[in-house]
Amino acid sequence: MRVPLLDLRAQHDTLRDDIRVAIERVVESQHFILGPEVSAFEADVARYCGVPHAIGVSSGTDALLVALMALDLAPGDEVVTSPFSFFATAGVIARLGARPVFADIDPATFNLDAAAAAATIAPATRAVLPVHLFGRCADMDLLLDAVAARGIPIIEDAAQAIGATDARGRAAGSTGLAGCFSFFPSKNLGAFGDAGLVTARDDAFADLLRILRVHGSRPKYYHERVGGNFRIDALQAAVLRVKLPHLDAWSAARRRNADRYRALLAEARLDDGRVIAPDDVPGHIYNQFVIRVQQRDALRDHLGAAGIGTEVYYPVPLHLQVCFRDLGHGPGDFPASEAAAREVLALPIYPELTEEQQAWVVESIRSFFD
Ligand SMILES: *Cc1c(COP(=O)(O)O)cnc(C)c1O
Repeated sequence: MRVPLLDLRAQHDTLRDDIRVAIERVVESQHFILGPEVSAFEADVARYCGVPHAIGVSSGTDALLVALMALDLAPGDEVVTSPFSFFATAGVIARLGARPVFADIDPATFNLDAAAAAATIAPATRAVLPVHLFGRCADMDLLLDAVAARGIPIIEDAAQAIGATDARGRAAGSTGLAGCFSFFPSKNLGAFGDAGLVTARDDAFADLLRILRVHGSRPKYYHERVGGNFRIDALQAAVLRVKLPHLDAWSAARRRNADRYRALLAEARLDDGRVIAPDDVPGHIYNQFVIRVQQRDALRDHLGAAGIGTEVYYPVPLHLQVCFRDLGHGPGDFPASEAAAREVLALPIYPELTEEQQAWVVESIRSFFD
């Protein structure tokens, strides 16, 4: 049996006709940049996330970049974030000449530890950038407690978390100054290429994001600010509009699959410390189902030989990346992030995964330990 890490074709098979119609509509309109398709998608996402503003952009990376540009970051400014994330989280900070200041993660959630983040806040801190990693919301209440009184904004990296809710039922991207989403094809809501979006509650901030998305101009050819071309394609918006109404059902299927993994691992008595599965928390939408194991690389090879796709998100924590050498970090600076980088393994969790496939995954993990 083959179990790929992700099977995009299985999803597409159920949507093919609707997507053809949507693409055809854009092609016939010959309206490819912003326009009605993009506005309609933005309105759909704003409603979905319970926020007044949604601004479609070119990628999740550009969502983060434009949100930080709107804060007017300058060289010497600091942004506090997690060292255990996709590169873009810290890359956008450095691209603006600011300094990523890392705080370690909570090993139980893989998310920024609020107390550690609070301890790094300094006069130069201009924003805190938590990541809702793997589709589980970071603890926004603790983070807000730590920063709100000091007037420091929170920019949420919600790239992996569309539809996730926190312990109080609030949607990812709805509590910070901005929520930054990615529609990279492997995210829970995947485009046919690159696309992203920023959510915002503040009218003036949303307005600034809309201006920065088109080279800082309003009206056209009159530039108040230096922005960039950060627009989402109308074709991508049209595809995403077809998919969005299915997102909650897909997230529910991912949660069901996560429950099944936990039950199968317990049945195989692998929950005795050999395999640590993510906790069952409400609102987790499992963009990834990430286990921790001591002999991660050997298990990954074993599963690969059994036809099972896995991935390591992420093998090198950001503070140890070569490009950030100038920050002066070394091994041991963020032990929880470094341990995670050694031990994590993402198992297939996509909505269409079958019970038989999951049984084979867990059976193959069991045979590794025997
Ligand atoms: C995917 C991702 C991004 C970047 O999104 P792109 O659309 O690929 O640019 C940023 N942060 C995190 C945590 C991500 O997973």
